[in-house]
Amino acid sequence: MISEIFGPTIQGEGTLLGRRTMFVRLSGCHMSCLYCDTAYTWDSTRFNLDDFREVLPVSDVAEKVLAGSAGMAVITGGEPLRQQGAVADLAGRLRAGKVRVEVETSGSIAPTAALVSVVDQFNVSPKLAASGMTERRRRRDPAVNAFLATGKAVWKFVAVGVEDLDEIAEWEARFGLAPIWVMPEGTDADTILRRSRELADPVIARGWNLTPRLHVLLWGDERGR
Ligand code: SF4
Repeated sequence: MISEIFGPTIQGEGTLLGRRTMFVRLSGCHMSCLYCDTAYTWDSTRFNLDDFREVLPVSDVAEKVLAGSAGMAVITGGEPLRQQGAVADLAGRLRAGKVRVEVETSGSIAPTAALVSVVDQFNVSPKLAASGMTERRRRRDPAVNAFLATGKAVWKFVAVGVEDLDEIAEWEARFGLAPIWVMPEGTDADTILRRSRELADPVIARGWNLTPRLHVLLWGDERGR
């Protein structure tokens, strides 16, 4: 179930910030983060989900992504691993077309061996208390360990402020996560800049990496950018 396919644009977050890429956003998520900026993929209390999703054959999705000639694709959501059979099929087709494939996930569903074999990088974003969900709901240890075992995971934590950094350190210590990226929460440029400035020195001091949300700095909350 597809929410949207867009690009070429740039990867706005993380290890390949600024890199030309295509995005495939899948519909559906079993989480309910308070700050979710893609609630139209899952929140039926606020959106008519049928207005924001369609069923497309994997071959059609691959064709659209390859036509973007971006050399990289980010499969995101929602939670892509709810559809990981189709994601593995898509990623395999893209890799065959010489496209680098990254998957963005909450890290709460363990990836299958078939998916791991065709993905270049998992951008795993475990949810902190500021997401508004109970720890029991947002932290799935077997899934986190499964991503660690892939050797393909980078860990991206959304932070509202410096008050979230001790919690990230607890995740780091519990699981031995590395590398860690901290990203300010926000959907407007002022908030991203203010929180980036607040987080930068403490993040550097803890030995982590900081990423802004470059697409938000450039285009605000505009969909499809
Ligand atoms: S896991 Fe991601 S898509 Fe799902 S509710 Fe949280 S922020 Fe939104």
